Amino acid sequence: EISVFWFRRDLRFHDNTALTFALNGPYPVLPIFILDRNILDGLENRADPRVTFIHREIQNLNLQLQEVGSGLQVYDGRPVKVWQEMIKNYNVKAIYANRDYEPYARKRDREVYELLAAQGIPFISKKDHVIFEKSEVIKDDGTPYKVYTPYSKKWKSLLRQRPTTSYPSALSSGNWVQVPHKAVMPLKDIGFSPSEIELPSREVPEKIIKSYHENRDFPAIKGTSRLSLHLRFGTISIRQLVTTAGRLSEKYLNELIWRDFYQMILWHFPQVERENFNRKYDGIEWRNNTEEFAKWCAGETGYPIVDAGMRELNSTGFMHNRVRMITASFLTKHLLIDWRWGEAYFAEKLLDYELASNNGGWQWAAGTGVDAAPYFRIFNPDSQTKKFDQKHQYIKKWVPEYQEFAYPAPMVDHKFARERVLKTYRKALENG
Ligand code: FAD
Repeated sequence: EISVFWFRRDLRFHDNTALTFALNGPYPVLPIFILDRNILDGLENRADPRVTFIHREIQNLNLQLQEVGSGLQVYDGRPVKVWQEMIKNYNVKAIYANRDYEPYARKRDREVYELLAAQGIPFISKKDHVIFEKSEVIKDDGTPYKVYTPYSKKWKSLLRQRPTTSYPSALSSGNWVQVPHKAVMPLKDIGFSPSEIELPSREVPEKIIKSYHENRDFPAIKGTSRLSLHLRFGTISIRQLVTTAGRLSEKYLNELIWRDFYQMILWHFPQVERENFNRKYDGIEWRNNTEEFAKWCAGETGYPIVDAGMRELNSTGFMHNRVRMITASFLTKHLLIDWRWGEAYFAEKLLDYELASNNGGWQWAAGTGVDAAPYFRIFNPDSQTKKFDQKHQYIKKWVPEYQEFAYPAPMVDHKFARERVLKTYRKALENG
């Protein structure tokens, strides 16, 4: 008789909610990870750095488990199939996992839940990825917030009433199923090769967080924490980070609250994955010019700040938040290309790709989202450069051939593009 702990986007032992519950339960715990074919088969890049990252992390988990006589059981397949096999081969009494709020994950978990329920096996899920989930932070009338500021106020007051606690590292508990040593299969056995992209450190940079409010908007400075990849895969704990933020920087805490906010929106309005949050904009006539899209992707728009951002993304899998806003605004507003195209491109390239935040960011930029930038606010790439990269340090880093007076002409004139998008959005609103 065993219970099974299913690692997903929580690749750590310390402060892991469902894992703590599993280890405190009545049965020894078998830890597993599923290399999910439904996801892996959809990846274009056979050297996808996120696969390299996950592979590295599950190897670490396995090594640490070996020290306590256990080991991570890694399966390659489709989750429902894997579970069918599991319950055939083991006397499974309970399954534990932390909750995932993405539409695909919810569907997958429902299927697994039904499969297990038919056998009388409970599937116990816990909140771990966010501080407050689902309807924990809602308006007094019981409906979800659609504006960030009042949401964040309520979020903070709730945190004061219910401070978060951290769970001790799960490794110190002895209640693991003992298994013989076995290495995780090499990347090539799952059809991937290692990526050369440098993966960011998981150290919490306290110094950077302390001066976050001053430096966060300047892409040439290392002024942000670069923890997004680790938050995405749970290699650090959001509860511990929120506690640190509370001590060091209110501004930083606010960003972590944006993360919860978008997760909450995705939970209540899963249709945003494909549709405008604000249906008033459904009539926008996107131009969707594929050649222009290709120029944007390659960082060849003739706007140095846009080009620098796209090239940073293409070569590192990261882009500074300020520049994410500028490039997203440029694609949707200057080129009138559907935000879903840009969203998909970011999803393919970003190490920290997270459906809720990426979708939230794109719909914000396009003006179609929850609490979005008003449609008539159109970032001027040149004034953004003057404000946030005045000495062109960021631009020169990513566009080394850049010279102020000898750069390819902008692919579209700012004033022209501005008038065009205003007309297009107004037309959509009139007809909508
Ligand atoms: P820091 O500035 O150090 O912030 C700390 C953490 O707070 C981040 O790691 C992240 O988890 C969270 N955070 C910060 N800003 C936001 C925000 N606006 N919305 C939600 N969470 C936030 N973030 C992602 O994690 N994944 C994405 O796929 C993603 N796509 C984006 C797409 C667009 C168009 C835009 C405008 C923003 C996107 N963001 C996304 C939000 C933000 O740009 C990144 O979280 C941030 O740049 C990551 O760098 P950092 O860890 O140094 O952030």
